[in-house]
Amino acid sequence: MSELQTEIQKRRTFAIISHPDAGKTTLTEKLLLYGGAIHLAGSIKSRKTQRHAVSDWMEIEKQRGISVTSSVLQFDYAGCRINILDTPGHQDFSEDTYRTLMAVDSAVMIIDVAKGVEAQTKKLFKVCKQRHIPIFTFVNKLDRFGKAPLELMEEIEDVLGIRSYPMNWPIGTDGHYKGIYHRETEKVELFSEDTSHGQEERESVIFDLKDPKAKEIIGDTDYQALLDDIDLLDVAGEQWSMDKVNKGELTPMFFGSAMTNFGVRGFLEEYLRLAPAPQPRMSSDGLISPDDEKFSGFIFKIQANMNPAHHDRLSFIRICSGKFERGMSVYHMQGGKAVKLSQPQQFLAQDRQIIDTAYPGDIVGLFDPGIFGIGDTLCMPSHKFKFADFPVFPPERFARVSAKDTMKRKQFVKGIMQLTQEGAVQLFQQAGAGMESYIVGTVGQLQFDVLEYRLKSEYNTEIVMNMQPFEVARWLRFKDNRPVTPESLRGADRGMFVYDMKDRPVLLVNNEWALGWIQDNNPDLEMFPVPPEK
Ligand code: GDP
Repeated sequence: MSELQTEIQKRRTFAIISHPDAGKTTLTEKLLLYGGAIHLAGSIKSRKTQRHAVSDWMEIEKQRGISVTSSVLQFDYAGCRINILDTPGHQDFSEDTYRTLMAVDSAVMIIDVAKGVEAQTKKLFKVCKQRHIPIFTFVNKLDRFGKAPLELMEEIEDVLGIRSYPMNWPIGTDGHYKGIYHRETEKVELFSEDTSHGQEERESVIFDLKDPKAKEIIGDTDYQALLDDIDLLDVAGEQWSMDKVNKGELTPMFFGSAMTNFGVRGFLEEYLRLAPAPQPRMSSDGLISPDDEKFSGFIFKIQANMNPAHHDRLSFIRICSGKFERGMSVYHMQGGKAVKLSQPQQFLAQDRQIIDTAYPGDIVGLFDPGIFGIGDTLCMPSHKFKFADFPVFPPERFARVSAKDTMKRKQFVKGIMQLTQEGAVQLFQQAGAGMESYIVGTVGQLQFDVLEYRLKSEYNTEIVMNMQPFEVARWLRFKDNRPVTPESLRGADRGMFVYDMKDRPVLLVNNEWALGWIQDNNPDLEMFPVPPEK
């Protein structure tokens, strides 16, 4: 194997998807602990002590206790190099998460044993499913009362439409669990006394199920229930199929407890064994294989002012093929220019490091003078192509935004343009209106809060925000390509006629009913929920 192939085989790049509070922060922290990236779990975030996750960069995240932006964590374990792309769990801020999921090769789905499949998990799962990436399930909080494992399996199948293959099985009845049984090794692992409150890894009590003392240690009822369940799984359960796992049709399911460290190491090791190394990516020139010697990658996230002291802007690139070297010259397809990648950075959240080399699957932060956009391709001048487009999400909420202090207008425009390029909000200009205000579109309320907060903290500009009654945006086009203007569109005053930042006409209206009226009265009008391809 070449050096490139060896490095690719070592890599696992994934995101953790879950509903808020299922335990994503806790699990991430434990994985880092095993990787030796941090020494005392709980130093990442403990709500009790009001300390916060290393992956929470921004003040607003600290204030609201949620992760607004996705960050990247890298660590080594057992010969593997692991890249975890953190995703915000808050339902309002899903666009950023969707983009992050474009950059991973697999996903870990956390489910709270008591709550089962929750709303946000469902949404994120859908995106993973569309990409056909392998999904590994970790059922968390086994130290507490929970649903029956068979019920959870059924729920996953009914709600998410994926079958599961339990790799281990909880021991205990009526929702009170004592430990887990590992199906492959036929070993039992029981909870033990936790003296460090989950801060250090614990010894577990492990023995063979065939051990003559097993029945006594586990207890008659639970022992019998376990034997029955194992039988049932073996006979009636899904057959193991690596092929189905790889296609995202079967999810390996693990039970454990992130907080008490129970079952976490076993999960990590199995995950590393089964999860895919970096995969080929579709492009305008067909599939690009990671072991293609020619470097390529795409930008999936842009963030400005991560360090408020320096007004810098970082673009995050997922490497898709070839070896990345500091200072290398690459071709930026969308910009149509060669660029030199001089100060690449890698992350353990706040600790940035300048790196010299990186490989497919890795995420690198590039200093960006404002030239990159989300979804842009970087490749070698000798092999030019574009990676497939990123999905765009239709905005559903709108507000008119202006600077409170007219003297701050310049800062205001700079800030709002930057946040638009990051993909934090979508920006429109009302037809015929002056330049003192913009119409901002988002998919959720939190994006407005982020906008307000960041303009204040990063651009020292307070804003005035007036919510607009619209819920639907439609990009407009006449079939004969004559220009769509407020005058040529019948009923334009039934909504608000605006232009997006590329000067394309868009109509904002209250509801689908209004759309119907517009369509009826403009028979040759085409309407699109996202900007149409030319
Ligand atoms: P996130 O919102 O998904 O990042 O969830 P957190 O990791 O912040 O966890 C939410 C809450 O659940 C916190 O109070 C954790 O201490 C708690 N928690 C996480 N894992 C476990 C677990 O295995 N058992 C129990 N009992 N609580 C847990």
